Amino acid sequence: LRLTRDGAEPVTTGLVPVLSEGWDDDAPWTLDGYRERGGYEGLRAALAMTPDEVVTAVSDSGLRGRGGAGFPTGRKWSFIPQGPGPDGRTKPHYLVVNADESEPGTCKDIPMMLANPHALVEGAVISCYAFRAQRAIIYLRGEVVPVLRRLRAAVDEAYAAGYLGRDILGSGFDLELMVHAGAGAYICGEETALLDSLEGKRGQPRLRPPFPAVEGLYACPTVVNNAESIASVPSILRRGVDWFRSMGSEKSPGFTLYSLSGHVVRPGQYEAPMGITLRELLDYAGGVRAGHRLKFFTPGGSSTPILTAEHLDLPLDYEGMAEAGSMLGTKALQIFDDTTCVLRTVLRWSEFYKHESCGKCTPCREGTYWLVQLMERLEDGRGTEDDLDKLLDLSDNILGRAFCALGDGATSPITSSIQYFRDEYIAHLTHGGCPFDPADATVFR
Ligand code: NAD
Repeated sequence: LRLTRDGAEPVTTGLVPVLSEGWDDDAPWTLDGYRERGGYEGLRAALAMTPDEVVTAVSDSGLRGRGGAGFPTGRKWSFIPQGPGPDGRTKPHYLVVNADESEPGTCKDIPMMLANPHALVEGAVISCYAFRAQRAIIYLRGEVVPVLRRLRAAVDEAYAAGYLGRDILGSGFDLELMVHAGAGAYICGEETALLDSLEGKRGQPRLRPPFPAVEGLYACPTVVNNAESIASVPSILRRGVDWFRSMGSEKSPGFTLYSLSGHVVRPGQYEAPMGITLRELLDYAGGVRAGHRLKFFTPGGSSTPILTAEHLDLPLDYEGMAEAGSMLGTKALQIFDDTTCVLRTVLRWSEFYKHESCGKCTPCREGTYWLVQLMERLEDGRGTEDDLDKLLDLSDNILGRAFCALGDGATSPITSSIQYFRDEYIAHLTHGGCPFDPADATVFR
């Protein structure tokens, strides 16, 4: 794949190391290493533009949120009110980088921040310049202490080099950036729970609207963007909107990190144009492990409906996955081969959602409990066929009725697994338990 394709049709094939460029170098995380790869040139380009021009460039690029939902990044920035409000006061603006990556199977932001922390720092400076924020916070999962150290070291380097602090590169723009470690609760990755957690409260989702862009941290306009989204911004400023749009499709342009895990020969991060297919990614990853075939996969973590081998040739982008009845989500492709018990896998995820439900709203708190009860019974072979209808009915009553996406996410693996593997549910009932030979089966307990 050539990165600059003047006038050519956008591509959706091949690998494109942008954020993953230099990951195999010695110590790619240093400021010197980053600058050798063109680091902080995007910032220089941005500072030569007006803030509004930077917002326009990111909007025109079509970059969409990489945290899972795919909301257009430039549009989110444009919601930040500029100038004084009706009371004549100008509220401060904040950038909060959501680096609380916790969706099961999702493992892209952590390696990206370990290997390339300056891309995130540079992206944060450009973003704050664009929507006029003087303070940025990176909210990181508390458990990933090596990433915390790496990010803090990068922030220190950036302050010392004049990329952060007062009068950045002589532009007159000031920015303070801090890295905050959460305490490892899945719910704190939900943007409003994250804001409550930052404010020192118990992390629980707020009702939206108002969205954070209007009323976020300390009730001030706040952009909450995923770490990969922000880290992608410098490349757009440095190489241009046309370059970004030369990859992917009209509605899902650019490149992204796809994470392959599970039963693949070479699990890892594969950075590629949006819309690449799983078949091609599996070629890069050495395929499903020898002697086995693909049974099912998640396109973007466990809260996106599972898909099967019939979806191998669909574009892995927002539209392609919606067409398949799923979602692109976090692009966490968990691959399961024919030794996997689908019920056991789904039960394992259901237990996760039950454990992580914050308890604020009834459909999620009670619903995830009952999903686990029913799944356990079915997996043990103690259930009845009526339990399948109960599961679907329960899922239907959670979907769209919970405070945040956690409840919806808990239902996705259940409804999609019943859709594709109803026979396997029935086989557990007729067999009186898991029909898989324990010697062959992959145990997810
Ligand atoms: P969402 O679609 O409700 O919102 C996406 C973003 O757009 C948010 O930042 C929101 O504030 C903004 N937005 C939406 N409508 C807006 C409006 N009218 N005005 C201003 N801003 C607006 O999605 P969500 O509930 O924030 O997130 C759900 C997604 O999170 C799922 O797709 C899932 O894949 C993903 N997820 C990711 C992880 C992870 O570890 N990365 C974990 C769990 C879930």
